[in-house]
Amino acid sequence: MKIHEYQAKRLLAKHGLSVPTGHVCTTVDEAVKAYESLPTSLCVVKAQIHAGGRGKGGGVKLVRNAAEAREAAENILGMNLKTHQTGPEGQLVRTIWVEAGSDIAKEYYIGIAIDRELCTPVMMASSEGGMEIEQVAAESPEKILKAPFSPSEGLGRREAERLAKGIGIPLDLLGQATDYLVGLAKVFCELDCSLAEINPLVSTTDGQVLALDAKINFDPNALFRHPEVEALRDLNEEDPAEVQASKFDLSYITLDGTIGCMVNGAGLAMSTMDVIQLYGSEPANFLDVGGGATRDKVSEAFKIILADHKVAGVLVNIFGGIMRCDVIANGVVEAVKQVQLSVPLVVRLEGTNVKQGRDILEGSGLPIITASDLDDAAKKICQAVKTAAGDNS
Ligand code: GDP
Ligand code: MN
Repeated sequence: MKIHEYQAKRLLAKHGLSVPTGHVCTTVDEAVKAYESLPTSLCVVKAQIHAGGRGKGGGVKLVRNAAEAREAAENILGMNLKTHQTGPEGQLVRTIWVEAGSDIAKEYYIGIAIDRELCTPVMMASSEGGMEIEQVAAESPEKILKAPFSPSEGLGRREAERLAKGIGIPLDLLGQATDYLVGLAKVFCELDCSLAEINPLVSTTDGQVLALDAKINFDPNALFRHPEVEALRDLNEEDPAEVQASKFDLSYITLDGTIGCMVNGAGLAMSTMDVIQLYGSEPANFLDVGGGATRDKVSEAFKIILADHKVAGVLVNIFGGIMRCDVIANGVVEAVKQVQLSVPLVVRLEGTNVKQGRDILEGSGLPIITASDLDDAAKKICQAVKTAAGDNS
């Protein structure tokens, strides 16, 4: 789960880590008032969306008087901000953050993620602050220093200091920077984060170390332990299809391809996606309807898949263990009747009550293509989509 920069900064401040003071605003007048109440004449007006790269997209503006603050707020509020992380469709800016500007001496990068090979969190630090870390990793990986640490013991001060020295923090700020690294590691572990990234962490000309940007993501499986974090969720920023799916307890993730998939079980969903790719198409989504899906759930899953305009064909691949094939078949038939089905649909059922399931599909009078196994199903849907697109090769 992602949160906004201003929410992340409030969490950091709560844990004793320095951030600039600021105000969250949803109107231009609030932004001007916020500017006037801040102690510095240099302030920063920042778009709050769940994506990075806002600066380059015009979502971060330095302002030096109230008129400039007004103009920046007018431009940014309501803009459709496009960054490399929003995708080409961009993201509507509903909220801005107006904060006291900082006189930057130097920008650094610090971030924590889970190292999947080591199975521990790892602190990363770099002298190349303000740049995309992916670019630094690709072009000059030696400029990223790393320190894996135990989630129960936290990041040791020695390790933190080694990184701080290594990225060139000046001696007089070493204590502050070390505290920051140790503190961020504490936040990461206490709140069950999956990512905590400060880019840039800066030193200022008056000798402070503080976070000018903050990105914190949380492990959704641990949210039940942190209701105060869950309360920060902003559904406006999430994929509407994924939000709708979560209401029905469906695991759904939007992908870029054209074949909509409805599968039960994450493992089967993964292999279905693989076999679709093997036969030359790409999945439009990951969808696990789960073991105990009801007819309504299947019907809802179907609607969510078909609402995606990229979907040129649908593959239903269900193994009826706990879930019976006739229930699936009824859900599919009902959904197809409700939603105008304008794309090919292949259904592969196997398991409990498979005969009844197939009979329901075949007796429905609907244009449903049935398949005998996964291979057959993937071949059929890929071919049907190609044929529908006028490519008979
Ligand atoms: P991002 O583009 O979404 O990563 O947004 P950031 O919050 O990182 O802001 C982008 C850039 O704006 C930073 O890398 C800084 O160079 C600059 N910036 C942000 N706040 C300040 C500030 O208070 N003073 C100055 N001089 N620059 C700032
Ligand atoms: Mn940034």
